[in-house]
This record gives sequence, structure tokens and C-alpha cells, in this order.
Amino acid sequence: MNKDLAISDLTARFGAKLSLASADREQHGADESSHAVMMPDAVLHAGTTEEVADAVRICARHRMPVIPFGAGTSLEGHVTAPHGGLTIDLSLMNRVLAVNEADLDVRVQAGVTRQALNTHLRDKGLFFPVDPGADCTLGGMVGTRASGTNAVRYGTMREQLLSLQVVTATGEIIETGNRARKSAAGYDLTHLFAGSEGTLGVVTEMSLRVYGRPEKLMAGVCHFPNLDAATSAVIATIQMGLPVARIELLDELSVKAVNTYSGLEHKEAPTLFLEFHGSAAAVDAEVSAFSELASEMGGSDIEFAERQEDINKLWHARHQLYYATRAMAPGKHIMTTDVCVPISRLGDCMRETRFDMDESPIVGTMVGHVGDGNFHTILLADPNNLGEMRALDDLHDRMVTRAIEMGGTCTGEHGIGLGKMKYLEQEKGPALHLMRQIKAALDPIGIMNPGKLLPGMDSEP
Ligand SMILES: Cc1cc2nc3c(=O)[nH]c(=O)nc-3n(C[C@H](O)[C@H](O)[C@H](O)COP(=O)(O)OP(=O)(O)OC[C@H]3O[C@@H](n4cnc5c(N)ncnc54)[C@H](O)[C@@H]3O)c2cc1C
Repeated sequence: MNKDLAISDLTARFGAKLSLASADREQHGADESSHAVMMPDAVLHAGTTEEVADAVRICARHRMPVIPFGAGTSLEGHVTAPHGGLTIDLSLMNRVLAVNEADLDVRVQAGVTRQALNTHLRDKGLFFPVDPGADCTLGGMVGTRASGTNAVRYGTMREQLLSLQVVTATGEIIETGNRARKSAAGYDLTHLFAGSEGTLGVVTEMSLRVYGRPEKLMAGVCHFPNLDAATSAVIATIQMGLPVARIELLDELSVKAVNTYSGLEHKEAPTLFLEFHGSAAAVDAEVSAFSELASEMGGSDIEFAERQEDINKLWHARHQLYYATRAMAPGKHIMTTDVCVPISRLGDCMRETRFDMDESPIVGTMVGHVGDGNFHTILLADPNNLGEMRALDDLHDRMVTRAIEMGGTCTGEHGIGLGKMKYLEQEKGPALHLMRQIKAALDPIGIMNPGKLLPGMDSEP
């Protein structure tokens, strides 16, 4: 790698759009997690696909790492730069290029955030459902194959993708698909890039599915005497085919954290937050079917709201949980991790994990997009206490191993980044070899986000 020559060529091509300032490099060398900052050598604030392609070509010529960057809200050290290199920040590529109301699809640049897209769509009676807790970019969401509270009804980022414009590792600009709802034309490149965490190319534009706003929407809360009762209610709801749009479980400590942080007064017990979408008649029927089912399983104080501001308030509190947990012990190392298991094993996996947390010196909250069998723990440990840090790692190992042994995955939505590389082998076995071959074929000199996702491919380009 010849960094000096690369920086000199990049400066000549991009002028002031290329930043060498240490504050900018530092900000781009970390995500929202506690992974250590590792700064890139330079940051390009890209404005067009052609600029991205030129930057990748220059980097390829000098074997300089390239790290795509959206909003930097990922949680596994995804955007750190262990080998330095060029971070390409796409947040200025933030235009909604087309809204095709008749086809229920949109064309956007990769730097558009999910909330900006929804603001743009609101007047048209449309919405985009994938809602990670942070206001991240759609490019970053392709990068991590993100999901959120609505995935149980609308699917994850994967299900919304129709086509991607990608700058490949050699600087070529390709389109992976088209606007057709389905296609049997060859390998599914669109979904190969989804979840590739910037290790195969840079997404610059995309066509996405959007949805008509439902006629009626009702959101509610329901408290349970224990975690088992709550997970049983979730499993029964899903197995009965009740079409919940969202169903989120907060454990007792999570509710306490949210109450303190957001000044709320929810009963401090395992609690489901949920929402139904549809025609007025259907939603009323679903709310009443759920209420009956939940009561039979020990649910109490079931309350549903219909006013948008009440609904927003409820979900805002849920989305603040990461920050609410962090506020429980300022200065502590925070680790947020997620696993996903088949729905029938959700109760076992959550119960055993909560028990394990209670037995360890680690304080943490537990929350889940439970309709998908996906749950998170947000764990706090004193970075100056070696014993606590070791207990944190052990707890994490056991949580992931438990999920994999139950037929699940080491991550339902946060992705691999740096933090989960060691679990990919455990989960994928020999299939990991094929992943390495795909990486080698698409990025032969290994410049795209090196040192992430694939264990054993961590060398400097
Ligand atoms: C409070 C909080 C709550 C969260 N809740 C959720 C949740 O509910 N569900 C969930 O899935 N995630 C959640 N996340 C994680 C995070 O928001 C998602 O991973 C999100 O998809 C990251 O998007 P970003 O724009 O911040 O991407 P970044 O963090 O900037 O990048 C993420 C990865 O994608 C790559 N990348 C970025 N842009 C591109 C591009 N244009 N082309 C190719 N690769 C690219 C990067 O190299 C990196 O590997 C949460 C995070 C926080 C802080």
C-alpha cells in the first residue's frame, strides 16, 4: 500500500471534499459502540456516484483500504479503520430521486436517512417500514441488512430491496436489478450486497419498496408477571397468525431504565409494546383478539392508543432504551448485542439468558423484536475492572452459543463487524469458505473494509 501517493492523488482529484483533519478522521473512526476508535487516513465527503467510483479506483491503484460510511450508528465496530485508509462518507448523497406511487417503490441515494425518507413520503400517504432505533442511512441499512420493530410484519431491509447501484471494488458502476417485483434472472446480486458491511462494494443508489399508510393504527402496552408469561403470549400471537405490525418485549429493568430516562410511569414488569395496522374493522378485531389471548397468559393493564402523538410517545420511549441503559451507569463500557432464534425457542433462550445475566456481575437490560425471535441485551461493565470485563465476554459467548445451539444466529440484525467475527465460523461452518471465495472474487486485492466480517482475511491490502 502506498498511502502517501494515494492521499496525493485523492487530494488532486477532490480538493476540499477530502478531509485530513484529525477531528473528522476521529469521528469517522468509530461507531456508536464501545469499540476502540481506529482512524482512517482521510475522509471523502462524496457527492456523486462518479466521485465514489473515482475514489475507489485511486484507492485500488494504491491498495488503500476503503470504508463506506453512512451515519456511523452501527454497533460492532463496522466503520473503524484497523488498517487506516479512506472512509467514504455518503451522507451528502441524500436525495430522494423518484417516488413511483403507482408501483409503490422509490429511488434514493444511499445517504438518505430512514426518517428523511418517511418525511418525504408522508404527504403521499406512503411510508417506509424498516426502523432501526437510530436515524441511520439507507446505505448503512443495506450494509448491515438492518431491521427494526416493524420487521415482523413488513420484513427486514432485505425484503425491501429491488435493486442497488454499486461501485465495485475495482471502481466499476453496476446496477444489480431493476424495478420488477420479482426476477429469476441469474444470481441474486442485490441480496449478495445486502449485509456485506461494505466489504464487497459501495452502494450509491437503490430502489426500495414502500407501503400505503394503513387506514387505522393502534399501539398498546401490556404487562406480565414474568418473562415466561410474556414470551408465551408472543409465541401464541405469532402462531395464531395475528398480524401484529410490531411486538416488542422489554424486561423489568428495561422498563425501569426507560421510565427514569424518559420520565414515564410504566409498571416495572416485563412489558410488551405492540401495534396493529390495517382497516378499522380488522384492527379492532385484532386488538380484541390479542387482549383476550394476553389476559389468558397473565397479561394485565392492557392499554391501546389511537392518537398519533400517544403512539409516537410510546415508541419514542422504546427507541431510547440504548441511551436509557447507558444513563444507568455513565462511563461504563457498553456492549449491545443481539441474537435471533426460531420463535418456538424464544422463551427458553430469553429465560436462560436473563438467568445467566442475573448470576453474573454484569448489569444489563434485555429487549426484543420478539415477533421475529430476535432479542438484544445491553450490557454494562466497568472498563477498569478486568474481572467484570472478562465476565462480560463470557456472558456474551454463552448467549451467542446458546442461540446457535437452539437453531438460531449470532446476530439477527446488528451484523458482524469486528465484534462478532469469531462467531461466524461457529455458525456457518464450511459455508464460511464459500464466503471467503466470494470476497476474493469481488474484491481481489482486499481493499473493501478490510479486517471486518470474515475471520482469517484480516491482512493489510
Ligand atoms: C440506539 C441504536 C439503536 C439501534 N437499533 C437497531 C435496530 O433496531 N435494528 C438494527 O438493525 N440496527 C439497529 N442499530 C444499529 C444501526 O443503526 C444499523 O446497523 C444501521 O443499519 C447502520 O446504518 P448507518 O447509516 O449508521 O451505517 P454505518 O454505521 O455508517 O455503516 C454500517 C456498515 O455498513 C457499511 N456501509 C455504510 N454505508 C454503506 C454504503 N453506502 N454502501 C456499502 N456499505 C455501506 C459500513 O462500511 C459498515 O460496515 C441501532 C443503533 C443504535 C445506536
